[in-house]
Amino acid sequence: MPGLLIYNSLTRKKELFTPINPSEVKMYTCGPTVYHFTSIGNFRTYTSADILLRVLEYNGFKVKYIMNLTDVGHLTGDNLGDADTGEDRLEKAAKEERKTAWDIASIYTESFLTDFKKLNLTKPFEFVKATDHIQEQIDLIKKLEEKNLIYKTSDGIYFDTVKFEKNTGKKYGELSTLDQIKEGARVEPNPEKKNPRDFALWKFSPKNVKRDMEWESPWGIGFPGWHIECSAMSMKYLGETIDIHTGGEDLRSTHHPNEIAQSEGATGKQFVNYWMHGSFLKVDGKRMGKSLGNAYTIKDIDDKGFSPLDLRYFYLGGKYNEQLNFTWEGLNSAKIALEKIKNQLEIIKSNKDRNVISNEKLEKLDKYRNDFISSLNDDLNTPKALATLWEVIKSNIPSQDKYDLILDFDEVLGLDLSKQAETKEIPENIEKLIDERNKLRNEKRFEESDNIRDKIIKLGFEVKDPAKNE
Ligand code: AMP
Ligand code: ZN
Repeated sequence: MPGLLIYNSLTRKKELFTPINPSEVKMYTCGPTVYHFTSIGNFRTYTSADILLRVLEYNGFKVKYIMNLTDVGHLTGDNLGDADTGEDRLEKAAKEERKTAWDIASIYTESFLTDFKKLNLTKPFEFVKATDHIQEQIDLIKKLEEKNLIYKTSDGIYFDTVKFEKNTGKKYGELSTLDQIKEGARVEPNPEKKNPRDFALWKFSPKNVKRDMEWESPWGIGFPGWHIECSAMSMKYLGETIDIHTGGEDLRSTHHPNEIAQSEGATGKQFVNYWMHGSFLKVDGKRMGKSLGNAYTIKDIDDKGFSPLDLRYFYLGGKYNEQLNFTWEGLNSAKIALEKIKNQLEIIKSNKDRNVISNEKLEKLDKYRNDFISSLNDDLNTPKALATLWEVIKSNIPSQDKYDLILDFDEVLGLDLSKQAETKEIPENIEKLIDERNKLRNEKRFEESDNIRDKIIKLGFEVKDPAKNE
């Protein structure tokens, strides 16, 4: 096999994936901030991570996969280009919903995990919460303090990006362009920051305000900044240098450069070898947003009579790092296509005629398998892989081989086709009718066989006779 090529945002090149330790690949994905229902945009990013995980496994790698759940410290200013200003999203939602921030975290974590399962996303080795790792985050900030990379302002402890460059000889912000970071800021710069690109590691609780979530620290009562959780938890579960870190394209500008600076500032080692960023999902050609009313959720998908797996099929129709536009018509086409696949699979399964295997058919089998994995190994080209799936369905390879190959592909596609095949088991009474019909047809008693055919159709099953050239 030629190996897996992935586009690395750090080097801005497609590279052959070479793991640090081939016996266990270490992979981390930035998970959701659990303050509202996770949108289908967020889920596009997690589905891409899931495909990566499955492709790695298909290539024979064992993967240790960690995803975090941000339940503290992600401030509203992030939308305006300065993640260190504004309100904590969970505390804000708590006020709006008249609950505690802990309740908000628990409610939306629960709903996220339910939706995650519905999309058939592979459960990571562990989901890790920021609030369960306060000590680890404090310990990491202490390490940075020992290295003289932090300073105190009236509202928190900040990371000094200029000192980082001086002390380590590394460049800050390699993943993004510095212009992007500057241009992104639409709020007044904090005058106490030594450099505009410095960021909060620990924020103090505001004076005279009792937050729901706050902790003692060597610097004062408060809560961790948004970025430090990913560095602390990635290192705890996966080690100081990991293979792959994924997330949405927005994280490429600040969150991920900050993760790199903190981690490498503390350890002096490379934090991540391959960075992968997924493109955003648009809706009706526009940006998705809660305030625009188009940040659809899995519940919206369910309510409109679609299955979350229709959405999964829809996602696979676009390459993860190319823009994808969601429309209800597009989702409907995905639903129809998936339905067709399921029906075909049912027919293939029930087709008892084991065709004679020829060399030509065996070669085709190999070619399809090869095309499928080559597309996925080319930076996760799922649209091309789906095209191969359709070629297989339409091909004349023997039913049993076709069936096995489709289910093998589904190990990566995750459309839950094996379950479909199980649930569509042909009941005994239908089997009897099929046998009876075949007998009549062999005896050329077509009128009677057609009657049975109608009976079978009335009972909700499709009757397809194998094409002559199969
Ligand atoms: P958040 O809950 O805002 O922390 O975002 C969680 C993940 O979803 C991050 O990796 C974001 O980059 C990603 N994300 C946010 N909006 C979209 C979108 N419209 N399309 C794809 N990914 C998104
Ligand atoms: Zn992160």
